[in-house]
Amino acid sequence: MRENLNEKCAVVGIFNHEEASKLAYFSLHALQHRGQEAAGISSGDGERLHTIKDRGLVTQVFDEQKLGTLKGHMAIGHTRYSTAGDDSILDAQPVHANYDLGQLSIVHNGNLTNHQEVRRELIKKGAIFQSSMDTENLIHLIAKSDQGKLKDRIVDAVKKIEGAYSLVFLSRSKMFAMRDRFGFRPLSLGRIGDGYVVASETCAFDLIGAEYIREVEPGELLIFEKGKAIQSIKVYEPTPKHCIFEYVYFARPDSQVYGQNVYQKRKNMGIELAKEQPVEADMVVPVPDGGVPAAIGYSQQSGIPYEMGIMRNHYIGRTFIEPTQEMRDLKVKMKLSPITNLIKGKRIIVIDDSIVRGTTSRRIIRMLKEAGAAEVHMRISSPPTTDPCFYGVDTPDKDKLIAANMNTQEICDYIEADSLAYLSNEALMRSVNSEDDSYCTACFTGEYIV
Ligand code: AMP
Repeated sequence: MRENLNEKCAVVGIFNHEEASKLAYFSLHALQHRGQEAAGISSGDGERLHTIKDRGLVTQVFDEQKLGTLKGHMAIGHTRYSTAGDDSILDAQPVHANYDLGQLSIVHNGNLTNHQEVRRELIKKGAIFQSSMDTENLIHLIAKSDQGKLKDRIVDAVKKIEGAYSLVFLSRSKMFAMRDRFGFRPLSLGRIGDGYVVASETCAFDLIGAEYIREVEPGELLIFEKGKAIQSIKVYEPTPKHCIFEYVYFARPDSQVYGQNVYQKRKNMGIELAKEQPVEADMVVPVPDGGVPAAIGYSQQSGIPYEMGIMRNHYIGRTFIEPTQEMRDLKVKMKLSPITNLIKGKRIIVIDDSIVRGTTSRRIIRMLKEAGAAEVHMRISSPPTTDPCFYGVDTPDKDKLIAANMNTQEICDYIEADSLAYLSNEALMRSVNSEDDSYCTACFTGEYIV
């Protein structure tokens, strides 16, 4: 079985607010797109931590009565992304433990690249693990550290781990937020009343009425303590390598990620795509919802009308949720359907943000052809996804990535399109206004950072 890593999850932390657990709940609701498998919240009242977590969507895991038991002025929360083949509640977060300094809860977004080595070492020294989550390593590292204070133990622990992590911790009286030195996964800081909030994406701030302050810096540890100003410790010099795929697909368009708006970046990708890969057609149609901003950009740049030619049924989860290929095929069918009147006899440019296995594109093109489309030209607003992600995005192994195994013409034949073209790496960088190398683009280039 594959290790359960804390892939594309969401984390949130609320400090110094009398309705902390409710605000954490609403924040998780805004961040539901980052993970639909499990949800959990730990709260703290200065005396004890309380934790509730379970499999399911945020609204399925929590109700008024449960939230009522999560008392206290601080709370952390997590939504977990599904990984193939596991259904254990032990893999839901927050991860909670009692140790010599008291109680501790952790939520984690990202993947630790050295988790197996660290775990082997810990087991050799007598540690016992309950789950296969890399986050549990952190609990052990903190518990074993010989430092007296929790903040020093956290610093000690993160120096032993490598990879991607946006973490929020809750102790009996404090909250901590820490981001890896590369800032792989996003984490922002906001203010609400006299309190603070940290969250994976700022769409959570908008929902609860919090004001955006700034990002948690790569390599920074923030400490929140009642009656005191936030303390910031630079554990590492920041060397930003932000995940570009957050802009391409993962984050919500209304969020600020890495300090900039996601919608605008995605629309820029569409504009650049229209410049690089023009084609004569009657309409531009997005694959909803991921392809929408790029399709608007493509349409505006090319002057070809934008049409919602494909409808999405919103009551189906993401198609990646199902581990088997048959279920994924079925789910695409259940999720998307064409507006036949609009499509019949037309030359269509279909825009999607990415092709991973090729399942979605192939299905959609068949569906449009069956609906009578005269031509279907596929345009992808990112470069070919050729390499798996080890830093927190759930991409399949290389042998299942279609672009790792076929060239563009072969993929075009496989998905049965009349033409296929991707955005170039250079144009992707222009779209995100990057003149430096502050992004991780390993999924498109194979150039891994750690
Ligand atoms: P596939 O059918 O495997 O080619 O998947 C491509 C579709 O999945 C596209 O419509 C993308 O918007 C979406 N997608 C891309 N990356 C991911 C991911 N990591 N998790 C879930 N969906 C994704």
